[in-house]
Amino acid sequence: KSFIELNISRPLVRACEVLGYQRPTPIQAACVPLALTGRDICGSAVTGSGKTAAFALPLLERLLFRPRRIPATRVLILTPTRELAVQVHSMIEKLAQYTDISCCLVVGGLSTKVQEVALRSHPDIVVATPGRMIDHLHNSQSVGLEELAILVLDEADRLLELGFRQEVHELVRLCPKRRQTMLFSATMTEEVAELIQLSLNCPVRLSA
Ligand code: AMP
Repeated sequence: KSFIELNISRPLVRACEVLGYQRPTPIQAACVPLALTGRDICGSAVTGSGKTAAFALPLLERLLFRPRRIPATRVLILTPTRELAVQVHSMIEKLAQYTDISCCLVVGGLSTKVQEVALRSHPDIVVATPGRMIDHLHNSQSVGLEELAILVLDEADRLLELGFRQEVHELVRLCPKRRQTMLFSATMTEEVAELIQLSLNCPVRLSA
């Protein structure tokens, strides 16, 4: 299968070409068409499988085809660590380079004030670690989740291992009920099962 056969539009196919991707990885070939239908996804995938583009491509495509009603954040991607957030943010910027979709990084260790200014511009996508995202939601008027359409929980097992259970559960509850959720985890633990129960609605299960 080629990227064109995955039914993603030209600006995204072009970005894949420029990144040197010749064909979709197995998780991308499985995930992209399903995610484009709006289904919830529960993916068992490790780093290196191409899972970032597997969730990034369909969410970018869905943003392109659903024009924003008002300027607002429509996608939230939660990652366990600052390093992973930086990587995911960078991958999204590359995949979105031929679109007008904006993406903002919200992690600990960077200035809260600078992030508030960035959030006030209503980026389409926010890539965040849970603690800092909660801080912004509680302590500033810079971001709201009312228009959120897609939630991604990346490396769910590590999110929970690192002690973010309470924060992640709170964030899931703050998101609108009507949304698409994609959860990825390398391992399946009781806590991951609990999070799946809380956050996913009739998910399709994929593994790579
Ligand atoms: P990930 O599993 O998302 O951390 O991706 C691992 C690496 O694979 C990253 O460096 C990606 O740039 C790269 N990658 C993702 N998709 C493809 C693809 N279809 N073809 C070649 N490399 C890819």
